[in-house]
This record gives sequence, C-alpha cells and structure tokens, in this order.
Amino acid sequence: MNIAFIGLGNMGAPMARNLIKAGHTLQLFDLNPQVLAELAELGAQISPSPREAASTAELVLTMLPAAAHVRAVYLGEDGVLAGIRAGTPAVDCSTIDPQTAREISQAAAAQGVDLGDAPVSGGTGGAQAGTLTFMVGASAPLFAQLQPVLAHMGRNIVHCGDVGTGQIAKICNNLLLGISMIGVSEAMALGAALGIDTGVLAGIINSSTGRCWSSDTYNPWPGIVDTAPAARGYTGGFGAELMLKDLGLATEAAKQAHQPVILGAVAQQLYQAMSLRGDGGLDFSAVIKAYQRP
Ligand code: NAD
Repeated sequence: MNIAFIGLGNMGAPMARNLIKAGHTLQLFDLNPQVLAELAELGAQISPSPREAASTAELVLTMLPAAAHVRAVYLGEDGVLAGIRAGTPAVDCSTIDPQTAREISQAAAAQGVDLGDAPVSGGTGGAQAGTLTFMVGASAPLFAQLQPVLAHMGRNIVHCGDVGTGQIAKICNNLLLGISMIGVSEAMALGAALGIDTGVLAGIINSSTGRCWSSDTYNPWPGIVDTAPAARGYTGGFGAELMLKDLGLATEAAKQAHQPVILGAVAQQLYQAMSLRGDGGLDFSAVIKAYQRP
C-alpha cells in the first residue's frame, strides 16, 4: 500500500521502518531532514510537503508532538487536506486532546475523508519491536481498513469507539500512570527513610495489594528493576515533559466535562516542579527525587 507518513521522530521513525519492512511504499514528510535521509536509504520516498505526500497516498498516517502540529499538518495551506483525494482514509497517532481530534476529523469529513485517531502506548521500545497498543477512535468501516496496517506496528489494536475515543482512552490511562508513579515513589521513599531494605519492600508490594506497573515493571527506586530507567540514571523511557503534556490534556478535558481530577491536578504540579528543576528531560519516574534528599 502507498502510505503517506508524516512525523518521524522517536516514535514515528521506528513505526515507519516496520511498515517498510512489511512491504509498504512510504511517502514521508518531516521538518528534520536527517531522519528523512535515513529512511530514504531504506527505500522510502521524500515529499516536499504534507500536501504532496497525501496526494498519491492510499492511507495517510501522522505521528506528531502535539495538537498545534497536528492542526498545521492537516489544515495548513500545504497540509494533508489540501492534497488528499476524497475516499482516502487517514489516522492520527499523536497524543492530543479529544476535541481537536474531533474538529480535524470533521474538517476531513467535509472533504469526503474518514479521519480517525489512534494514539499508542508501549513507548519507543514498543515502536521498534512492533508491539505497540493502538487505541483507535474511528467509524467501524475505517477501523476495518486501519486494523491490518496498524497490525504491522502493534500487537493490540483496540477499537475504542467513534473518533476522539482513542484519545480519551490514552489520556485516562496516562492520568492513572502519572498518579501511580507518584504513589509508588512516596511508598518506596518512606520505606527507605524508615529503614526497610527497599528490595524487600518492593517484593512485598509486588506480591500484595499495592502492586501495579509502576511498582513491578518500572519501579522508580534504583536497583529494583534492571530494565527500568531508574537503573540507568532515569535516561530513555517516557520523558517527564511528555507526561506533563498528557496530564495537561487530562486536566483540561476534565475542566470541559466539569469532572474533578483531584489527584491528577496534584500530579501535574509535581511533574511541573520537576520540569522547573531542570529534570523535564528525564524519565517521568525521576519524580521520586521530590521525596529524596538531594
Ligand atoms: P518527537 O518529538 O520525537 O517526534 C515528532 C516529530 O514530528 C519530529 O520528527 C518533528 O520534526 C516532527 N514534526 C513536528 N512538527 C512538524 C510539522 N509541522 N510537520 C512535519 N513534521 C513535524 O515525538 P515522539 O516521541 O515521536 O512522540 C510523538 C507523539 O507520540 C506525541 O504526541 C507523544 O505524546 C506520543 N507518544 C510518545 C511516546 C514516547 O515514548 N516517546 C509514547 C507514546 C506516545
């Protein structure tokens, strides 16, 4: 299939590689020429604009940082909607707010284009391994078209409902993740301060009712999980700035829905303080530093 792929950063580039590996022909656009050159060596075509990339595509796929970039890429003068042919399916895999996802989908629908949202979880490791989870907000016919293509990049392709619901699933999950990481940090740091061996404490938590992904797979205390960012100075993984962005999306969506997100708001402030300290580039589990003496 001829696929336009726009946004080839930490996530998009490995996802594009998996599509090339699966035999698809890619038309690429990104602002970073270096990543384009690397993918061109694998046989991908480079387009001068999103509009050009979309004009010959049988599917348009985007993986961009935030809502402003997604708006620009779809609605801009040289954007996807200026070039795409009616009837061509499109999907945005960026994490953005559900409202923007729906607005852009409406603009696309006015041109006969079915545009869905399919944010992912699984991080850069999952993008490389082709094991991402896709949370898809799309009409049933669009989901049926997207499913086999997304399956080249992910293991779980879940139809969440109509457009926007993929983003809802993603921001609710990350709201919980941001909070649970702080909970585990608080408990681990308290245990250490009170004098228990942190390995013993983690073992008890992970076989008791406090167990969660933040404790058993991604424990923020160094030395507990060999593969967690805590074992390598909180490098790699999921940056605190991205967590901060996702908590901002959750609290903003909550405001619009008149729904309280009390712990989410506190969590947002803790990651914001982390950003102010200059730790925004570290993995989000470095939030544990708020509980440790410098
Ligand atoms: P990134 O910053 O590494 O990559 C974004 C890419 O988009 C860059 O290559 C950039 O040059 C390009 N870009 C920006 N504006 C553009 C424009 N106007 N036109 C064309 N290209 C443009 O970000 P990422 O880590 O790949 O994340 C992408 C999305 O996936 C984000 O919404 C993020 O929240 C989400 N996400 C990231 C992770 C992760 O672990 N990194 C995990 C799950 C979801």
